[in-house]
Parts: sequence; structure tokens; C-alpha cells
Amino acid sequence: MLTDPAIQAIRVLGVPLELHEEEGLLAERACRQAGVRPQDVAGVRLAMRSLDARRTRGILRFVCHVDLFVREGHRSGALQKAIKAGRVRPAPESTPLALPPERIQRLPRQAIVVGSGPAGLFAALSLALSGAGVTLIDRGSSLDDRHKRLVPFHRGGPLDQDTNLLFGEGGAGTYSDGKLYTRVQDSLEATLLQELVRAGAPANIQFDGRAHIGTDKLHAVLPRLRARLIEAGAQVHWNTRLESVIWDPSRVGRVMAVRTDRGELPCDALFLALGHSARDTVEALFEQGLALEAKPFQFGVRVEHPQDLINAGRFGEHPQAQSLGAASYNLTSKPQGATAGAHSFCMCPGGKIVASISEPGHLCTNGMSNSTHSSPWANAAIVTTIRPDEFAAYGSGPLAGLQFQRHFERLFFEAGGANYTAPAQRVADFLAGEPSADVPRTSYTFGVQPGRIDQLLPPHVRAAIARGLEHFDRLIPGFGGVEGTLVGVESRSSGPLRMPRDRQSYRAHGTENCYPVGEGAGFAGGIMSAAIDGVRAVHACLAPAPTPSPKRNR
Ligand SMILES: Cc1cc2nc3c(=O)[nH]c(=O)nc-3n(C[C@H](O)[C@H](O)[C@H](O)COP(=O)(O)OP(=O)(O)OC[C@H]3O[C@@H](n4cnc5c(N)ncnc54)[C@H](O)[C@@H]3O)c2cc1C
Repeated sequence: MLTDPAIQAIRVLGVPLELHEEEGLLAERACRQAGVRPQDVAGVRLAMRSLDARRTRGILRFVCHVDLFVREGHRSGALQKAIKAGRVRPAPESTPLALPPERIQRLPRQAIVVGSGPAGLFAALSLALSGAGVTLIDRGSSLDDRHKRLVPFHRGGPLDQDTNLLFGEGGAGTYSDGKLYTRVQDSLEATLLQELVRAGAPANIQFDGRAHIGTDKLHAVLPRLRARLIEAGAQVHWNTRLESVIWDPSRVGRVMAVRTDRGELPCDALFLALGHSARDTVEALFEQGLALEAKPFQFGVRVEHPQDLINAGRFGEHPQAQSLGAASYNLTSKPQGATAGAHSFCMCPGGKIVASISEPGHLCTNGMSNSTHSSPWANAAIVTTIRPDEFAAYGSGPLAGLQFQRHFERLFFEAGGANYTAPAQRVADFLAGEPSADVPRTSYTFGVQPGRIDQLLPPHVRAAIARGLEHFDRLIPGFGGVEGTLVGVESRSSGPLRMPRDRQSYRAHGTENCYPVGEGAGFAGGIMSAAIDGVRAVHACLAPAPTPSPKRNR
């Protein structure tokens, strides 16, 4: 059905479904909404289902997008009207991971992909499936070993600077909520979700508007993705850290090999998928001439509440609230006057706060959860945007943002007692500018102790976050009260750098065969967008877009 060229998919937007209703009702409703007769429909697919938590008139319901497969050229006045009104649009086509041979113009004989996070993993898979020679290296360990190496740190041992919560198989999102939503609406989205399902992820990630895999399930998916990569012909080297690139002396901007802590590897294409925390590598590459520029990034704290408080605020007394599981939120406060806006980010329902660090003597929080969202806590980052002019004083040139992050990560580390315990403050005390006499127990791995988060943060960040918390308290009663705890610092919700690259070729400025991708390159902010960016760069490498011909003089 899906491959028949005579069949086209149209997407019917915003089809309502009550919580107790069967999904089977969607087909008829979508047909009615699109003005299409059921007998003209060859197939139906649920494209997206999300909970409308606005509780208009006390009603919680799902809102769905439904794809109808109708005969090409099918036109009815009612359908045209629905398209015009924006209720229906063509369903997005999907782009394959591998490029078909007829589109490939250049096939690297030996591509090196650095980093096994989503950007590197899917770039490597796309290269291998397209027939290129590819080696994926990562400074961290494979998943089972990564887990073993994390245990001593969590028991008070030293931090391993190559294998930790940020580095190792699967990258930074390996210990996360595994949220898979993206705002990019890219034609690779469906393809990537299919790959994940093929590797064992639950099928509902393909349509759930708030899809997440959860750390436990992600850990079953990653080894299968690795097996698929190896089956496709790629080589994978763990515990192999990129230290520098070796430029071709006869061709400016051409990388001919990489130097790692385990020796040199020749290459004719280099994909840098380093993530946002490979500070040592970025500093080394900058010294070697890789172009970098400062970019704005998110900075703030993590907030934690009892999950019950969030459920009550989102679902109220709805009789079916129990069946909906742990509630999530996505909150924003607008800037007002000189006070910047703030927003929640990376919300983990039923989750846990973790120490997301790769350098000893620094502290940085983030959140993760298992697939069942079963812990009694809900946590999220509450962040504001820091502009390059606001961090310029902390360092020189494009690396100033990195120095800003380090400064506050060290400050919070010391304030927590220099042993990865985090400073914490009740939200109500933060808003009142008072110390917390005590703080509730939190989910944070290393524990918390009372600290003056209101004084540790720069004043303009404090002001933006305070305004945000006051606003969020109006949306979820209790959000700004004594039951909320702030734990800090959340300094790596996004990266402070961009590796500038050509928009079409994806090549780093001034280079011939170096492709910076994903979050560390400044072109992604999450699992899906990083994976999409990695694959797009591979496609640009294999099938460069034609260079526009120079304009003729008339
Ligand atoms: C705790 C946590 C929870 C998160 N939760 C979510 C979520 O639920 N949903 C979501 O969309 N996003 C989430 N994120 C963000 C998401 O993980 C990142 O946006 C995404 O992983 C970025 O992908 P990437 O491939 O660009 O880089 P990364 O995933 O950071 O991968 C980079 C890889 O490069 C390797 N590397 C670095 N330097 C070198 C070197 N010199 N040599 C060799 N290898 C190197 C690292 O070991 C690492 O494996 C979370 C992040 C964290 C930390």
C-alpha cells in the first residue's frame, strides 16, 4: 500500500479522541474531517497522538494526526476546502538512511566518524549502508563496560574522564529519558524512528507525540544498533580518543588522518560528532586551526517536585488521570523589560537527577528516567539563554562560553562540599531570597545540601529563573512552593560553540573533507536532531548539491 505510486498520503490534523475511546474511531473521524469517503481510502495510519492537557471545560483528550492513503489525484470539493483551511496537508515523505547508488557521486574509502552519540552512530550507519568504508571511534567504552566503569564513581571513586555519563556508547543520551520529539519536522524522522523500532524500541515511538524510550529500553536498543552497524561493514573502536587531525601537506584544508591515543588512522572524510562536552578535544582542534564561533546557550538549574504535585497540576481530579501515567510539562515565560525569558527543558517525569560531568572538580546536573517513569519525583531544567556578550568576560575568543560554564560548574562543586553533593534550595526560599534551613530528600545520585543558589547564579540569570518560577506556579499550583527544590547547576543543556560549516556541503569552513555534526558542532539540541544532522551531513558528502553556476554578465 505504502509503495504503490498511485496512492498518496494526506495528513489530517487535530483529530480528537476521548481518553476512553478506541483508536479505531479515528479512521472515520479523519475521513469526515478531510471530506474523503471511506471507500476511497486504501489505508489509515496514526501519525501522531498527544495528550491535550489544557483541560478545557474539565475535559482531557488526545489530539491526533491521522494519515489517510488515498488514490493519487483524488479530489473532492470538501477535501480542497479542508486543505485550504489547514486541516489537511500532504503527509511528509520519508528519506532513506542509505543513498541509492545512482545518487552517490563520491564514496569515501575510509571515513572516520568520531563519537558514537546519535549524530555519529547514525552518520556511520548511513555511510556503511551506502557502501562507504567507515570506522567509528569513541573515547568511551561499549555499553556494558561503560556501566561497570560508572559504578565506582557513583560510590565515591574518581571520575573517569573518557567513560562517564556523557562519554561512551550511545553518547550523552544513553542515560536519559530518551525523549524523541523534535521540532524540525524532517523527512528523516520517520526513517530514524523505524530504525529504532527495528532495534527493539517500542513501536509507539512512531506516533506518540511525547515519545520516549527510557534508559532501560535504550540499553537494549543500543547493542542492536551496534550489531546492525557492524553487519553493514563498519568497524567500531571503543576507548579510542581523537587527539588531533593530520592535515595533508599537499592540499590545504584536507584531513588525511587522525591521531588517537591508540595510534593514527588514515581517512578521506572525517565526521566530528563530539557532543557538547568534549572540551579538551575542541580546544586541541581549535589550536590546530578548526574554525569555531561562540553561540548563545541555555543555563540555569534543575528543579524537582513530587510527581504527585505535577500530576495534580496537569490532570486535576480527572477520573482517568491514573491511566495516563506520570504527567510531564513544557513551560515558558516570556521576557519582560530587562528580565530575560526562561523555560523548562528536558523534563523527566518519574525520573532522577544525575551528575552529568566529564571533568573532575565540576558539577553539572541533568535528568534521566526509565521507560515506566516510576520514581516519585519529576525533574526538569529551568534555563535561560546566555548570549555571547554576557559570557565574553570569562575567556577570550570563541572559547569564552566554555570558560563561563567551567567557572559556574566549579563554583557549585565547591558550594556542595567538593564531593559531587549538590547545593540545593527550596523554590519558595529562592524566590524570597532566603536560605533554606533544610531541603527535602531528592533523587540526585550524590545527595544535596542546603546552598544559596540565589546567590551562586549571576543576578540576571537568577532574575529570569525567578520570574519563570513565579509564572509556572500559576500554571501548576505548588511549582513555586516549599515542595519544589532547586538543584544546580544546569550548564550543559546546550553547547556554547558552533563549528561553522558550509550550509550545502556541510564541510567545516576552510576544510575539504571535515564534517562537524550534531550538538557539539552547534547544529542540534537533542537525540533526534543530532541523528538527523549526522545523516544529512553524510548525504551532503556522498551527493554534493550542484554548485550554482556563476551569474553571467549581461
Ligand atoms: C542526562 C542527559 C539526558 C538527556 N535527555 C535527553 C532526552 O531525553 N531527549 C533528547 O532528545 N536529548 C536528551 N539529552 C541530550 C542528548 O543526549 C544530546 O542532544 C545528544 O546526545 C547529542 O548527540 P551527539 O551525537 O551530537 O553527541 P553526544 O551524544 O554527546 O555524543 C558524543 C560522543 O562523542 C564521544 N567523544 C567526545 N570526544 C571524543 C574524542 N576526542 N574521541 C572520541 N570520541 C569522543 C563521546 O564519548 C560521546 O559518546 C540528554 C542529555 C543528557 C546528558
